[in-house]
Amino acid sequence: MRDLPNIAFDNSYARDLEGFYVPWAGSRAPAPEVLRLNAGLAAELGLDGPSLASGPGAAMLSGGTAPEGAVPLSMAYAGHQFGGFSPQLGDGRALLLGEVIDRLGKRRDIHLKGSGRTPFSRGGDGKAVLRPVLREYLFGEAMHALGIPTTRALAATLTGEEVVRQDGPEQGAVLARVAASHLRVGTFQFFAARGDVEKVRQLADYAINRHFPKVADRDDKYLELFRRVRDSQAALVAQWVLVGFVHGVMNTDNTTISGETIDYGPCAFIDSYDPKAVFSSIDQHGRYSFGNQPPIMLWNLSRFAETLVDLVNPADSDDAVRQLTNEINAFPSHYQALWLKGMRAKLGLFKELPGDLDLANDLLAAAEGQGVDYTGLFRALGVFVRGNVMPVRALFADPGIFDGWMERYLRRMRDETIPDTTRAAAMDRVNPIYIPRNHLVDAALSAAAAGDMEPFDRLLALVSAPFSEQADAEDYALPAPESFGKFTTYCGT
Ligand code: AMP
Ligand code: MG
Repeated sequence: MRDLPNIAFDNSYARDLEGFYVPWAGSRAPAPEVLRLNAGLAAELGLDGPSLASGPGAAMLSGGTAPEGAVPLSMAYAGHQFGGFSPQLGDGRALLLGEVIDRLGKRRDIHLKGSGRTPFSRGGDGKAVLRPVLREYLFGEAMHALGIPTTRALAATLTGEEVVRQDGPEQGAVLARVAASHLRVGTFQFFAARGDVEKVRQLADYAINRHFPKVADRDDKYLELFRRVRDSQAALVAQWVLVGFVHGVMNTDNTTISGETIDYGPCAFIDSYDPKAVFSSIDQHGRYSFGNQPPIMLWNLSRFAETLVDLVNPADSDDAVRQLTNEINAFPSHYQALWLKGMRAKLGLFKELPGDLDLANDLLAAAEGQGVDYTGLFRALGVFVRGNVMPVRALFADPGIFDGWMERYLRRMRDETIPDTTRAAAMDRVNPIYIPRNHLVDAALSAAAAGDMEPFDRLLALVSAPFSEQADAEDYALPAPESFGKFTTYCGT
């Protein structure tokens, strides 16, 4: 029998931020078993894979036993959920096990989700179940492979316990995930809402030291903290929109300071291009719809800015509000520039020309209502650039709609002396073939719940190398068959 994994923890959150958390222990799982271990990520963290996958490793990854050097804790945070403020949320079913410094010298949190009740559980049972745990595993890896900042799964561990959910009993599971940190806009809100300016300052200093150390010596460091978070979130949401990702629950407690995607609950990728696409059963009014994500991020950043007013200018809050408002107002144009840069790459355009924004927007306007598969569209444009117009035309219910736009695209490409093959190859490097499509994810998770991990492993392998065509995987690049119907995701994880 192996011992508990030996992990070189260095727990700055526990050390530097007393009063921001409750030290806590996870529940003991009756029969923990590591179902999937992310061996590549374990290696990146300098952790020993086999000992993590062992019996003692499973006990640790389910939260029941803490290894030497861990200081497990539940974090306090607040948050705006669907626009309404909850002054106390916090880790209701999660623990920060500790932090490690990875092979590249980066500090990473090791965090458990589903490890039992905590002082922040409110009415919840503190548990997680297999399907959503594997869902988060799969989406995190897919986003990482797409080059999008994200938390990542280290392991999915079965607890051996039955957990009752909406549709009956499910298998209990714990997700071990790794993040640049678990600081959220909601963490700032927790202390700001209590009027505790000193704690907000302490948190801001911690965030600066951890994520933006170069800012620490600036006179305007708190304003610069805001700018940095704004810019990383603008970049993140631009990347979501460029790949067709809908987060689904962009509450301020799910908005990180690090700029990583966090909390894959009711998320989904769009199939047909539709700015109004909503998948979450609880998002009745489309607050978090595909096309509403940039303005919602702006809204969330405004809530973040509010927590920083007393730090930006302690002597004159009107002046602080003015300064922060200026920075908030810069978000839309900054976001648009990032999105356009991404769209140029997706369209294989190298130069920056004035008509590009209209060209990109008009492609999407043409696709809307035409049942055009968003992911397939850009791969098909690569085929078009190589000389075959058939696949892209076939995506449009009325192919004539594409033809009008096509003439402009051809003219625009003639403004550059780039060989077609070079252009198409560049497009293929940024336009994925394989994404976690809703029907495939659904099938993989249902099979996993029935004990068959093969579809999950196959899908995970494909979305982990999303840009390169793989053998016998044609079906994985296609949208859902019509019989799949409208897809709905649920928060009840
Ligand atoms: P999430 O939807 O996972 O982002 O969680 C939102 C809030 O609800 C957080 O404070 C969670 O800790 C809490 N929460 C979600 N599910 C549970 C659960 N099963 N037991 C306790 N708290 C939960
Ligand atoms: Mg959350």
